[in-house]
Amino acid sequence: MAHSVSVSCPSCGVAIEETTAHTRSMACPHCSNWVYVGSNGWEVAGLFEHAIDAPSMLQLGRRGELSDRRFVVAGRVRLSYDEGFWDEWWLEFEDGHHQWLEEDDGVYRLHKNVDADPKVESINGATVGGMVTVDAESWLVTERVDAQVAGVQGSLPVAIVPGESLVCVDVMGKGIKMSIESGDNDIQVSRSWVIRGAEIGWQ
Ligand SMILES: [Zn+2]
Repeated sequence: MAHSVSVSCPSCGVAIEETTAHTRSMACPHCSNWVYVGSNGWEVAGLFEHAIDAPSMLQLGRRGELSDRRFVVAGRVRLSYDEGFWDEWWLEFEDGHHQWLEEDDGVYRLHKNVDADPKVESINGATVGGMVTVDAESWLVTERVDAQVAGVQGSLPVAIVPGESLVCVDVMGKGIKMSIESGDNDIQVSRSWVIRGAEIGWQ
């Protein structure tokens, strides 16, 4: 299980007990301010009202099961871009692991984070057909989407703030594909595969 970590809300000062070692941004359960790990430790982003409207079978706090592993939906990020939006749900599994589940127009992709170190300048300057540097190797860019954080809920493993811009890049090399999301405070690398919505069982 995740270890709990003591954090005092930088806005109201109350100790937040819901954090885990993975938490890097979350809604304070006491004052509702969105707080995140910035360059000076925990910082306040403010209060946000979000129109997170599209119906989804995924909901914050809902418990389910995927490949015989039980999880709870711990957080959510809504990302918007030119052509619409998608959601990334942060699933906390009972076995102590966490994974992102991406939901885009009824298509679900389960992500597994990869421990890799992309060069931030290279990602921010990525162009389709060009190369980026990850772990000192060159990867081919197959897609680039410039997105904005439109909404946040629950607790998240990335320090992310509503309104912030994210560069989302898909890269390919050595026969594998990876996704990279680069924001102001954090960068994440993952591999993903499509799952059917029907594979998720709900309690
Ligand atoms: Zn607070």
